[in-house]
Amino acid sequence: MGSKDSLALADEFSKRYRVTGADEFMLKDFSHDADEEFEAAGKDHGRELLALGVKMLSEMQDKLYAQDKWSLLVIFQAMDAAGKDGAIKHVMSGVNPQGCQVTAFKAPTAEELDHDYLWRCMKNLPERGRIGIFNRSYYEEVLVVRVHEEILRSQKLPDKLITEDIWKERLKDIRHFESYLNNNGILLVKIFLNVSKKEQKKRFLERIEQPEKNWKFSKGDLSERKFWKEYMDAYEQLIQKTATERSPWYVVPADNKLYARVVVAAAILHALDSMELAYPSVSAEQVAELHRLKEGLLAED
Ligand code: ATP
Ligand code: MG
Repeated sequence: MGSKDSLALADEFSKRYRVTGADEFMLKDFSHDADEEFEAAGKDHGRELLALGVKMLSEMQDKLYAQDKWSLLVIFQAMDAAGKDGAIKHVMSGVNPQGCQVTAFKAPTAEELDHDYLWRCMKNLPERGRIGIFNRSYYEEVLVVRVHEEILRSQKLPDKLITEDIWKERLKDIRHFESYLNNNGILLVKIFLNVSKKEQKKRFLERIEQPEKNWKFSKGDLSERKFWKEYMDAYEQLIQKTATERSPWYVVPADNKLYARVVVAAAILHALDSMELAYPSVSAEQVAELHRLKEGLLAED
């Protein structure tokens, strides 16, 4: 398949799940399941598609790096066991590690709490020509912090600033922050791996039952599951308020891991494609200079 066809395919795969801004966005309109045709075509076909996506990503990243102007920030958000780590591992498997950097955001440290919440994220933004991956992000500030308001109380904010408008304000600030990044040549792809509550249960049970998966199980994940509805409401609202043309959200069906990875690869490819990447062109003078240097090299004994 030519690269034009592959990019058209990536657009087709990602389009269905792309949200570019709508107050009417509703999570219930998006499926947890893979596309039926994809399922019917079988796993080998799925793996081939993913391999194609990974290869294309590697080629485009090379140009991104050479051009050294744009950069891409890919944000992963999801409930536990939705497959963030696996998606990052597989989708980015062909990418040159020199041009890519993954940052995982956990509960903030004491030093981080001494700053505004974007501080730790700003420090890890991708340089020009690079791809940055955030495994969780500042969106936790309108997710876990919103669901558990006691976390907000421990953030050392002045009391006066903790009002009922705080979530609305945070969402507005995030939207403006992302627009600022876009205006500086950083495009965003925001991935919500949309796993169902039922599938999460199945994956937790596997983590308990299969010894080689025991290490992945954490008791805390079970307690978060009790707040499923609160989390989904928070996701719905943040997608409504922060999905834009240049920083879209992708609501990726995540009950089939292979399908989720294909869609993630397609979404990243779509963003890279919009940058119209090309290797920097060389002027006639530079070509002449290269020839002179070549002659010199050949003339050496
Ligand atoms: P995995 O469990 O797959 O290894 P993970 O991303 O769940 O990956 P954990 O160390 O289990 O990693 O969890 C990180 C925890 O940190 C999550 O529960 C997340 O909600 C929490 N966290 C991240 N950012 C914040 C924040 N700003 N405030 C409070 N908690 C946060
Ligand atoms: Mg976890």
